[in-house]
Amino acid sequence: MAEMWLPGATRYNIGNTGTMNGGPARVTHHATSNTTDWTFKNESAYFNGGGRGVAPHLVADPFTGQIAQYFPANSRALALQNANDVRTNRTGKYNIQIEWVFTKGEVVNGKKYTNLADTPMKAWPTIRAWLKSLGIAETFPGGAPQSWARDTVSLDMWLKQGGHYTHAQVPGNSHVDPGPLGNLFGGSTPKPPVTVPTYEPFPGAGWFSMGRRSPIVAAMHDRLVAEGCGKYKSSLDKDVIGSGDKASYEAWQRKCGYTGAAAQWPPGKTTWDRLKVPNV
Ligand SMILES: [Zn+2]
Repeated sequence: MAEMWLPGATRYNIGNTGTMNGGPARVTHHATSNTTDWTFKNESAYFNGGGRGVAPHLVADPFTGQIAQYFPANSRALALQNANDVRTNRTGKYNIQIEWVFTKGEVVNGKKYTNLADTPMKAWPTIRAWLKSLGIAETFPGGAPQSWARDTVSLDMWLKQGGHYTHAQVPGNSHVDPGPLGNLFGGSTPKPPVTVPTYEPFPGAGWFSMGRRSPIVAAMHDRLVAEGCGKYKSSLDKDVIGSGDKASYEAWQRKCGYTGAAAQWPPGKTTWDRLKVPNV
């Protein structure tokens, strides 16, 4: 069973829980954006006091790693506006709302920070592990946030796709927070597939010694014939370099536009690459 209260978070059990509507579980990220007091102490106290009516699940400090929690995971929080009759706080099995204690342009230890992506995001590994235990997909259906601007997703996406959203993306809302968050899922970014070369790489001019036996030679033979450059007298020992290979390759060099000494055995890299000998 997943824990409904994040282990280690300061717990402010403010009551006033509400049921979720079910469906794909999600997260909504916010930034507190306070112009006067950027401290965790101030923000965490606010949602336990005058801000109870707009409380999230979590308040998290990206600089210190401090975390406070106001509702259990299976309750709705209150930091979102409805989208007409869709009560966005209740969408999904979970809609874990996180208020990052951050203000665009805030100064910490003499350094100005424009985005959460530039902070150490210290509370994130702890929160991430908890969100994973709740079975919330590590994906942004509407794309990871790139700016402090509205990027509203369709109501259809919001209702049907689980994962991570920003306040700026939730339909029916007007806020632009939390701005860029950086690469939250780190190593989970899919790597491009390893590309196997389609063609045999040039083995070097010195490789083409008479009498060498290799499947590459047979593959070259077939390509030279296919290009109309076959000067072979037979296809016996197709995988052994011989006079037929020399005559055929030189025909290929001439076909490529080379003349004189440039159109003589052994093969060079340019004509080899153009021949496109399949990998063997
Ligand atoms: Zn917000």
